[in-house]
Amino acid sequence: MKHAELRREVAVANRAIVEAGLVVLTFGNASAVRNGVMAIKPSGVPYAELTPESIVALDVESGAVIEGTHRPSSDAPTHLVLYRRFPGIGAIVHTHSRFATAWAQAGRPLPCLGTTHADHFRGAVPVTQPLDTADLGEYEASTGEAIATAATADVPAVLVRGHGPFVWGADAAEAVENAIALEAVAGMALDTLALAPEVGELDAHLLERHFTRKHGPTAYYGQPT
Ligand SMILES: [Zn+2]
Repeated sequence: MKHAELRREVAVANRAIVEAGLVVLTFGNASAVRNGVMAIKPSGVPYAELTPESIVALDVESGAVIEGTHRPSSDAPTHLVLYRRFPGIGAIVHTHSRFATAWAQAGRPLPCLGTTHADHFRGAVPVTQPLDTADLGEYEASTGEAIATAATADVPAVLVRGHGPFVWGADAAEAVENAIALEAVAGMALDTLALAPEVGELDAHLLERHFTRKHGPTAYYGQPT
């Protein structure tokens, strides 16, 4: 297995999103990419039965399966579009986690209402535009294009309208962490607006301060390395 390490990482990431409580039934999938090869969850295989051997490897450029005996996740074309459009992405997590999906179904961007959100996402998490009915023939690839259009440089997540979140990161561990953070802040935002529908977004300066103390060249959160 030439891509054994990548497939092992993806098996671990798929188990991690289940353990984090982000997966309902078999809704969801994690993938990772390296050197033009994407590894992704197989279609319809229960998470409990996922092994590195069951993970499918595809050529990002052609979309052809190059390793593995299973069919790839039906969302593979969505993941492929994002890896082609954003070469800096190392891994993608898609789930139907409850709160992030509620915002996606409402068709509402997730506003930054507090510092928990600002620690992970530098602003609102965008939501995609409705798909044109002409795009439904290539539904999964069109979904990828809609995500790419909605995505912003500073927020590694997009809510697909009527569907659920797609979240990414530099590697599988970071994508999983971002998916967990998104679900947490989506729940907090819903509760916050239930208590105080009139509350505004977090002050822009506070948002910047919280984001940049954890990310980028001026970060100072945590222990020195
Ligand atoms: Zn889905």
